[in-house]
Amino acid sequence: MSRLRNIPGSAEVIQASEYCIQDPERCRGRWQEIFQKKQPLFIEIGMGKGHFLMDMAEAFPERNYIGIERYDSVLFRAVQKAEVRAMIRSGSDPDKVHVLSAGVQERPEMPADCNFRFLRMDAQQLPQVFAEHEVDGIYLNFSDPWPKERHAGRRLTSANFLKLYEKIMAEGAKLEFKTDNRPLFEFSLEEIKNQGWELLQYTFDLHHDTSMNQGNIMTEYEKKFSARGNRICKLIARP
Ligand code: SAM
Repeated sequence: MSRLRNIPGSAEVIQASEYCIQDPERCRGRWQEIFQKKQPLFIEIGMGKGHFLMDMAEAFPERNYIGIERYDSVLFRAVQKAEVRAMIRSGSDPDKVHVLSAGVQERPEMPADCNFRFLRMDAQQLPQVFAEHEVDGIYLNFSDPWPKERHAGRRLTSANFLKLYEKIMAEGAKLEFKTDNRPLFEFSLEEIKNQGWELLQYTFDLHHDTSMNQGNIMTEYEKKFSARGNRICKLIARP
């Protein structure tokens, strides 16, 4: 996959951004306190530039969202997009919005009622950052496939990661996973079964599955790959 690398100043922007939580271990067990409203907490692991996360947060104001991404350069783009959205929402001059999206650094404040935040971290750290049963739902979208067998343990739907998710998921919380990568999807179905998780729903062609596609919010990769004619697979499961 293409990845944005080495955007100068991205680490500094992330450190200064109100959208990004620094030292997330300090929030363990008290994530609700950082949001204006105490409401169910959903996380997306490997959110990329955050389009899906921010669209979900807008569609479900009665939930709080945390987007997790391990690369500064990618998270930097998410911060820029969050700022542009906030400016548009507050009715800012479109010229200023354009300047901001072009990377000029006069950063607007985060709205007080913002129901999403970002974390720059690796999914391996989840149990250090979220307490047992603290998370009400997990999204994985177009996760890196790691096609080589010897890297199978790095796939975000491998048993290693399912065990981490299980620790932090609340009673009844669900995992939702979308990908256009059929081998990764089939691997994920197997891992879910082998871990004794309950597979609630799945499809190999989401966009033609009327019931599962209802209310579907597309991710950046989903838009790109479905435009190329790739079928999108989706599963919903719980421990
Ligand atoms: N979810 C987005 C979408 O559907 O448009 C982006 C998909 S992109 C292929 C996968 C993203 O997951 C990348 O930005 C990558 O840096 C991030 N990622 C992969 N493994 C991760 C991990 N272990 N922890 C956190 N982020 C990870």
